[in-house]
Amino acid sequence: MNNNDTLKDAGLKVTHPRSEILDILQANPDMHLSADEIHNKLVANNQSIGLATVYRVLTQLEVAGLIQKNQFSDNQSSYEIKKQHHDHLICIKCGKIIEFMNDDLEQLQEKISKDYNFRLNSHVMTLFGECSDDKCAGKK
Ligand SMILES: [Zn+2]
Ligand SMILES: [Zn+2]
Repeated sequence: MNNNDTLKDAGLKVTHPRSEILDILQANPDMHLSADEIHNKLVANNQSIGLATVYRVLTQLEVAGLIQKNQFSDNQSSYEIKKQHHDHLICIKCGKIIEFMNDDLEQLQEKISKDYNFRLNSHVMTLFGECSDDKCAGKK
């Protein structure tokens, strides 16, 4: 396990579930996984870590700033390893997630906050629509 230092640096005690769950997200930096999907991967790796523990650990890792929690749908959150700030485009047909970063958009959000005398801490920008795949874009 090579996550021990990452956990310690974030002020978390190293435990087996924390290390395993962080490992899964680090190994899949482009993926946005739900707690269920993470749990399934643990089961596939013969790790007997319960779903309740997965949820608890995900919250701890999020609070420690190691992972990012995204709300792409009403019924479940998606988790990803913390990397450079980015926002998301979600295809409502196939579920594809496209990451993007736009400086104009970032600055505009700062400007809007300033205009309203509001100190911006963070933002969540998720755009929903249809991707360019033929089956999603309605092309034949
Ligand atoms: Zn699509
Ligand atoms: Zn992302």
